[in-house]
Amino acid sequence: MALIDDLAKVIPDDRVSVADADISAHSYDAWPVAVKWRQQGLQPCKPDAVVTPRDADEVSATLKWASETRTPITPWGLGSAVTGACLTQYGGIVIDLSAMDQTVSIDETNLMVTAQAGKRGDILEAELNARGYTLNHSPQSLDRSSIGGWIATRATGQFSSRYGGIEDLVVSLKAVLPDGTLIETKRTPRAAIGLDTKELFLGSEGTFGIVTEVTAKIFPLSRNRIFEAVSFTSVEAGVAVLRSITREGLLPFLVRYYDEDEARHAMKDTSFDNCVLFLGFEGASGQAEYGAALEICARHQGKKLGAAPVEAWMGRRYDFSGVEKVLNRPGGVAETIEIVDFWDSIEGTYHALKKALAPLADEVLGHFSHVYAQGTSLYMILLGSAADAKEAEQRLKEIWDVSMRVCLERGAAVSHHHGVGLARLPYIEKDLGSALGVNSLVKQALDPHNIMNRGKLGYAV
Ligand SMILES: Cc1cc2nc3c(=O)[nH]c(=O)nc-3n(C[C@H](O)[C@H](O)[C@H](O)COP(=O)(O)OP(=O)(O)OC[C@H]3O[C@@H](n4cnc5c(N)ncnc54)[C@H](O)[C@@H]3O)c2cc1C
Repeated sequence: MALIDDLAKVIPDDRVSVADADISAHSYDAWPVAVKWRQQGLQPCKPDAVVTPRDADEVSATLKWASETRTPITPWGLGSAVTGACLTQYGGIVIDLSAMDQTVSIDETNLMVTAQAGKRGDILEAELNARGYTLNHSPQSLDRSSIGGWIATRATGQFSSRYGGIEDLVVSLKAVLPDGTLIETKRTPRAAIGLDTKELFLGSEGTFGIVTEVTAKIFPLSRNRIFEAVSFTSVEAGVAVLRSITREGLLPFLVRYYDEDEARHAMKDTSFDNCVLFLGFEGASGQAEYGAALEICARHQGKKLGAAPVEAWMGRRYDFSGVEKVLNRPGGVAETIEIVDFWDSIEGTYHALKKALAPLADEVLGHFSHVYAQGTSLYMILLGSAADAKEAEQRLKEIWDVSMRVCLERGAAVSHHHGVGLARLPYIEKDLGSALGVNSLVKQALDPHNIMNRGKLGYAV
């Protein structure tokens, strides 16, 4: 292929692959619809080649070449996106960052770690733990996602109620713009010097350039953790507790409130018939905050169940096999939809989603796990079955359509942390409104030839 021969002139040719196995591996991410495509032998999102650079200079050479030849580029971290974000609908080159996986430095005085963008989360976390530190960024996909992917998807983790999402944890980054220009944002605790350029890349889903290196905050490992599970008889009671916890400024590192349907799974007890709240506290103020939170629970008739259910959950917190087992059957239907809404609207949105999604799955589970003073995330898990992979694909598309329409009608944001990808693309114009026009101007300025993850985030094709 002429383009590929051409590309091999600007980077070492062993970085470029057109092998079927590599093309196939980069034609499907973790989006359930893509899983169904693979099961049907369909390959609608097929790149022409995969480039695996070793450093930022190779990324730069590839993007400069792509800009000149107008070749579509799709960045790929570790492919754990659950939305089709790293799938190309326009062929071209996938740039796979997974070989850029080095830890550059650990700064124990200023509490920062710097790593190349393709560094896998659990490996980085283990390196830090060995020195007595942690990222405190704990997505369920820690062992299958990269630090660059976290930036590009604006990821968040299970400890966000105390430590925030990746937007709160990133200090600075290095990136390559679509024309091949290398940039570096200022490494500083804070600055009031105009636009913070790293913001451009948060949630950018590879549309503005490629992140090559990230400096993130680290924290000394906490030794004194306290856990408690508390049951409630209604979703409303627990949501009121979550709201009070944030109003009173308490900072549990773990907050997960499961509705009655998901509580059975969370408690690993099929006879459990209440909602359940999992709480975790740590640090010098942990004991006092635990006491204050338990008082709030008592005011809402919460019943203490002890630490064991939460400790058991902590031990399996990266396990996704329940959903994967269903999805791996050709007719299996499994989907996760995360959204966010204000406190005065979230219960209505929860009930509307439960009702609208009920006909589309055998089980519709719900939990609230990222809380803010203004509102909370809501995570729905759908489990069901269809006759075959084709019918399952159709059902998954219906699930997306129904859930996104409910959110838009209610004014909830259509994504809390999984991002947009292909799954939410049809709904983005309505969700973003006039902000999409501003974002599109930035896109045009940075990427005038529209090579970067073309068609994503609502930008013109
Ligand atoms: C089992 C499971 C659990 C999950 N749990 C969570 C969770 O708890 N929290 C959460 O936030 N997400 C979660 N996710 C979603 C996913 O893991 C995140 O979106 C993650 O941040 C993606 O990282 P990645 O390295 O796999 O990126 P990819 O999937 O490879 O790419 C995602 C997007 O980022 C772009 N991209 C990737 N790397 C770069 C780069 N270096 N520069 C520019 N663009 C880039 C891609 O083009 C694509 O648009 C989960 C996924 C799975 C499968």
